[in-house]
Parts: sequence; C-alpha cells; structure tokens
Amino acid sequence: MAECQRSLLQAQRKALPIASARDALLREIRSHDCCVVVGETGSGKTTQIPQYILESGLGRKGCVGVTQPRRVAAVSIAIRVALERCCPLGQEVGYSVRFDDKSSPATKLKYLTDGMLLREAISDPLLSRYSVILLDEAHERTVHTDILFGVVKTAQKIRSEKQLKKLRIIVMSATLAAESFSNYFNKAKILYIQGRQFPVEIFYTAIKQQDYTHATVTTVLQLHEDSEKKGDILVFLTGREEIESVNSLLTLCKVMFPSDWLDMIVFPFYAALPTKKQQDAFLPARGGARKVILSTNVAETSITIPNIRYVVDCGMVKAKGYNPHIGLDLLSVQPVSKAQARQRAGRAGREAPGACYRLYTEDYFAELLNDTVPEIQRSSLSSVILQLLALGISNIVEFDFMDPPSEESLVRALEQLYLLGAIETDSSEEGVKLTALGLKMAQFPLEPSLAKTLLSAGEHGCGVEIVNIVSMLSVDSVLFTPQDKRERALESRRKFVSPDGDHLMLLKIYRAFKSVKGNKSWCHENFIHMRHMSTVMDVRRQLTELCGRVGVELGTGGAECSEGVRRALIGGLFMNIAEHAGEGKYLTHKTRQQVYIHPSSCLFHVKPHPPCVVYSELVYTSKCYMRNVSVVESDWSTTPTTPR
Ligand code: ADP
Ligand code: MG
Repeated sequence: MAECQRSLLQAQRKALPIASARDALLREIRSHDCCVVVGETGSGKTTQIPQYILESGLGRKGCVGVTQPRRVAAVSIAIRVALERCCPLGQEVGYSVRFDDKSSPATKLKYLTDGMLLREAISDPLLSRYSVILLDEAHERTVHTDILFGVVKTAQKIRSEKQLKKLRIIVMSATLAAESFSNYFNKAKILYIQGRQFPVEIFYTAIKQQDYTHATVTTVLQLHEDSEKKGDILVFLTGREEIESVNSLLTLCKVMFPSDWLDMIVFPFYAALPTKKQQDAFLPARGGARKVILSTNVAETSITIPNIRYVVDCGMVKAKGYNPHIGLDLLSVQPVSKAQARQRAGRAGREAPGACYRLYTEDYFAELLNDTVPEIQRSSLSSVILQLLALGISNIVEFDFMDPPSEESLVRALEQLYLLGAIETDSSEEGVKLTALGLKMAQFPLEPSLAKTLLSAGEHGCGVEIVNIVSMLSVDSVLFTPQDKRERALESRRKFVSPDGDHLMLLKIYRAFKSVKGNKSWCHENFIHMRHMSTVMDVRRQLTELCGRVGVELGTGGAECSEGVRRALIGGLFMNIAEHAGEGKYLTHKTRQQVYIHPSSCLFHVKPHPPCVVYSELVYTSKCYMRNVSVVESDWSTTPTTPR
C-alpha cells in the first residue's frame, strides 16, 4: 500500500472522537470483565475499540470477536479495518458470515454476524477460541442478539469457575439506554464516548405522500439543484428493488441536467450488492461530484459513510416484523420507530450542521412507536423456544433471558411444541430436544403451527396451495370495500366465495391474480389491494425458497385440492378447531371458549351453520370472533395427547 494512503488512514483514525479516549477506555476494559460502551454512531466504536484491544495485547490469548446483526456491516467493516491495519483480509483481520468465511487460523480480529457466533457456540459452548467478545449494535435487540447475551454470559461464568482463560465481554450500543445491558451483565461498568453532533434541521411534508419513491426522487433533485447546498445526500429506503428503481429514475433525470450543474453520482447500498460496489460508496466522488447514497437501514447505525449533510428518510423499514396474522416475523415493510427516525436524521449532522427531509407528515411522526420493541417480545414463545433448541440450548426454563418470559407461558409453549411433534423428551439429560420435524420447522419464520401445516401439506398433496394460502394470510386483507361502492365490491367478490370457507376463497383470489399476471386494472375492478398482493408474492417467494432449502417437496393438488388443503390446515392448527353449539355460537375444542364466525368470513351467512370449523386466528372486539374459517369434518383431526 502506498505510504501516503497509510498515513492518511492513520490520520483519519487519530481524528475520530474516540481516539482521545483510547487510554481511558483500555484502562477500564482491562479492569472490568464486562463493560457497556455507549457512543454516537460514527464515533469509532466498531472499527477502533477492537483494534485498541488488539494493540494493547489484551486479547492476545485468543481471538477478538465482534458481532453484528447484519451481514453487510460485518463484511464492510472488516474490509475497512483490514485496510486500516494494512493487512490482507482473512489474515490478522477477517470476517465470518453465512456462506462466506474470510478468516484463517491467523485471524486475531474477527467480525461476524450474531447468527454465526451462535452457530459456533453449538459446538463450543464456552467459546474457547475467544478472549474478548464485543456484542455490537446491542440496541437492535434481535432474537439472536438476546440469545447471544445469555450464551456469552454463561460461557464467561463457567470459564471463570473452571479457572480457564478469561472471557471479556463488551456490549456496544448507539443509544443511551445502557442500564438494562449493564444490569444484565452484573452491573457492568458503562463507558460513554463523546460523539460529535451538529444541529440538524428537520423538514416534513405538508401532506401524506402516496408514493415515497417518487417523493424521494423529487426531493433529491431539489436538493441537488441548489448549488448552495454542499455535501452528500444519504437516502433511506427499504430494500433492493426500491433502491434500484430510484437509482434508475435518478440516472434518467441526470441526462437532462443543465451543463452548469454539479455532477451527481448515485451509489446504491444494500446487502445483496457485490462487496466491491458496496465499498465504492465510501470513496469520495470523482471531480467533486455530489454523492447520493441510496441505502437500507444498514446506514442507520451499523455503517458510516463520510461527508453526509442531507438525509432523506422515507419513514419505512424492511425488517423482520411481527406479523399478527401468521404469528411471526417475516421480512416486511413497516413504519420506523421515533428512535430510528431520529437516528437517521442524526446522520446528517456528524461533520457539520445538516438537514433531514422526512417524506411524511409531522402527524405521522407523532404516531410512530417510541422505540423498536425487542424482537423476542414480539415473537411467540413457542417459536423462540424452537430457535433456542435449534441452537442446541435444551434447558430452556433455566436460560438466562435479558427480559425473561413467565414460567407458565414457557411451559405452555413447550406443551404446544410437543403436540406439534416438534420436540421430544431427552432421555440422556434434563430437558427436551428437537425432532427431525422440529428442526425443519425452526427454519421457517412462521408461527410453529403454521410451519407444521406447511410441512405436513405434502402428505395431503397440496404443498403449493398451502404456501399460497399462508402467504395470503400474511397481509391484513387483500380485499377492500370502499363505502360508496360497497354493493359493487360485494358483488364482484361473489365469484371468489367458496362453500368450504375462507382459506379456499383466498386461494381462488390468489389464482385469479396469478392468471392475470398481477394486472393493475384487474385488481382495481375486483376491489383487490394491489400493494398487499405484491407483499403476498414476496412472502410466497421467501417461503418457497425456504421449502427448497429444507428439502420439502411441495406437490400440488390442482383443482381438486379442497379436502387436502383443509386436512393440511388441521395438521398444524388442530388447536384451532371449534364445534357448533347452536345459534351461531361455537365452542373451541380444547378450552371450550365461546367464539363466533367473523362477519368478514364467507361462511358468516351460511345456513345451516357448519358443525365443525378450523380458524386461523381469534380477534376480540364486541365478541370473540374466529377469522379466516374453513369447514372441516370432526373426525379429520387426530389431536395428539399431552405427554406425562
Ligand atoms: P461507530 O461504530 O461508533 O458507529 P465506526 O467505527 O463504524 O463508528 O466508524 C468510525 C468512522 O470510521 C466513521 O465515522 C467513518 O468516518 C469511518 N469509516 C468507517 N468505515 C469506513 C469505510 N469503509 N470507508 C471510509 N471511512 C470509514
Ligand atoms: Mg458501530
């Protein structure tokens, strides 16, 4: 490497806010086994602290591991740090993410996703190759991070009891809510890093934007047009497709720029982008052009691109989100929290005063959640347990959760998993273990009962149909009923109605949508939400991919699939069966609770009332209603019995 680049990089390192705290930090880390480090994004936590540890010799008895929730961050940070240390990637500095391992026995500093460290912990619960583990981006509170907290804490304790090599733990977070981390790690010392934050002016839109990608393009162009405005623009969008479509729109517009305008260069930044292209976003644009970086939320806290003065925030994020309809987290586009919106805005004020353009109204902002809720509290317990077991953690009741669930709900969830055939008692140890079926179920981001439905659909020869139905269930409702066209909407719906119930109706709608290739005017004429349908297609793609990965043969039942579909539904939803008890009142099988068919169901008006039904979910309003209901025969279900 050229000497001048080396000295430039060293000068940059020395100029970071964290550099002046280096010695004090090392002193604290040396004298405490656990520390929590809090500092503004961009201050240098992720790239510098691990290097300080390495340089001080603190970690010399093993490897220094730094975890990241996102793969794209782990990779790009490792590349940066290798560059700063003038070593080829995979030697002293490396990374390890799913399907891509750039580390070697020589690696002393390893960036890895928290999923990868959990995987390592299965074969080596004491994490014995590590002397220091830095749990980065702790404020994100993904299920993996939360579980990792427990795994690392236990490893540290056991290593100390057995007088093995010491394990130091450093938790790093970009938010000030550090007490909960500190309390969890036995009142760990909290260290605050002074960051730099210049004022950022916030702008909102006056009215709600119908299409934020369009609003993004307009805003970026207006900003760029103003030659008084110096500095680069960082745009937050939700994912690859959106980023690429804004990218091509901006590129089209560029052709029409007057010749006296500054040049503008657009850099996409998302996980699926080749690493080389990701790295380009960090370089200064040639000829002093203005850079426009179109990024997913990875640029919120995990990575820092220099010279940003303007932030454009669409207000949405693609995240693993709790989906109440299918019970669990699938990637979906959802509103950000206030904390996230502030964090995004902050990116504009790291080097000088800046501005943030929110592509939503101030009222919209006021309604956002304050903080992102920890994922573990949004997922159902049975699915969290399924994940723990898949990670080889069998003594669930004893597990040291940062936010522990009640023992009663743990036991209930274990019972459900047993009935689903996902777990069995482990004769050799205290505890339970996954069955082969359970291991497959754990791969799906669905409520275990739906995962089971999906996995057992093959037996009934209707895997494809069940994937389609589950995808349709993942959105609110694909049907819309405008007040002024109510009659017409209901009329057009009649052709989709199925005597067997809502699940088959959803399947009919899906098939009709597919046969017109997602035609927009067809959706309009049939009162179908186009946007929800594209979410359905996205979910469907993800589920189909997963089925392929775990080796599930889907098979299709074609036109005559109704009975197979309903039998498959019972395969997983056998706890959601209800029997008619007269005058429209139903009683649930297991708990004898009074429930009714929801007015939105196509079975609502059916007389006589079907004697036995299966439902997807219960909603409580004036009464307890079953939503998405199908007719079944009572002798189809062979409910397993509870173990004793
Ligand atoms: P933190 O973890 O506190 O958010 P980082 O250690 O990730 O901070 O980043 C510190 C600084 O390093 C950033 O402000 C940025 O200026 C610089 N930096 C990080 N990665 C790169 C990169 N790939 N290229 C250029 N500069 C980078
Ligand atoms: Mg960081």
